[in-house]
Amino acid sequence: MNLISKIDNLKKQNGHFLTVKQVRSLTPNMLRVTLHCPSVAGFDAGINGAHCKLLLPQAGTSADTFKQIITIQPNALSMEIRPIRRTYTVRYFRSETKEMDIDFVNHGDDGPASSWARQAEPGSFLGLLGPASPKIKEFYADWYLVAADMSALPVAGATIESMPKNAKGLAIFEITTEADKQSFNAPTGLEIHWMIHSDPHVSSIAQLSFLREMDWPKGTVQTCIAGESGLIKQLRHYLITEKNLRKQDTYISGYWKIGLVEDEHRVWKNTQNA
Ligand SMILES: Cc1cc2nc3c(=O)[nH]c(=O)nc-3n(C[C@H](O)[C@H](O)[C@H](O)COP(=O)(O)OP(=O)(O)OC[C@H]3O[C@@H](n4cnc5c(N)ncnc54)[C@H](O)[C@@H]3O)c2cc1C
Repeated sequence: MNLISKIDNLKKQNGHFLTVKQVRSLTPNMLRVTLHCPSVAGFDAGINGAHCKLLLPQAGTSADTFKQIITIQPNALSMEIRPIRRTYTVRYFRSETKEMDIDFVNHGDDGPASSWARQAEPGSFLGLLGPASPKIKEFYADWYLVAADMSALPVAGATIESMPKNAKGLAIFEITTEADKQSFNAPTGLEIHWMIHSDPHVSSIAQLSFLREMDWPKGTVQTCIAGESGLIKQLRHYLITEKNLRKQDTYISGYWKIGLVEDEHRVWKNTQNA
């Protein structure tokens, strides 16, 4: 392939090359992809819950070509071979085996990442930029609030499993079917509520209604909240403006938006300052 030329003169990025070891249905609408990360030296042990950028190969790209592609800044690549980027969460990283689990919402073939995961099999490959650091680095709250839809179960699960064992709080999970419930190694003081919302493309305010109706706890509240951006905007407004939570205690983030692909969603977020 002559689409990459004069590689030594191109601006570089540090893409890691990952191969698929295993794919399994974690629940009906969630696929767990276990990846082998040979260039693991730069990864910290504590990256569960950190986000990363996945670089998805264009159809027909060979592994050797892709290894070169992911080391080059995208603007220097022709559109024919430029990998599509999507944002995902490290669910588990095992440094001893150099394995990483990433959980993909299986929302069909309308998105390249979901579609890639549905077709992935041992030997499939992708690239990775990052990871960043986990969303909550210090746990100091009197009470924790976790809220997530399916896309944010990985960050919520990783956060819950990192909490101190004596942590108290509430987790609200909105999932597509009853069978999409997952089990977490959660502190016993964390109350978990599951809500079923069968069509994620229809907006839901069930989480907000739940929060409005509950008795609000006293003391410092830390949050880990993520999901569909329309709802997240309302949750942020409620928690920051009406409940006066301090911004530094809150992680509240839109992970996708009904009707928008990730790049459009990113542009939308910038206009909202979210
Ligand atoms: C920090 C961060 C961490 C994230 N971690 C994860 C993770 O670990 N696992 C995960 O599954 N997602 C995660 N997401 C969300 C993921 O990046 C988006 O869902 C992304 O749009 C998926 O890309 P795609 O190529 O499948 O679909 P796109 O091409 O972006 O979108 C195609 C269509 O699918 C719709 N769509 C996108 N996501 C969903 C969804 N979850 N459910 C239903 N419809 C959808 C879009 O609205 C659009 O109509 C994370 C997002 C962020 C910002």
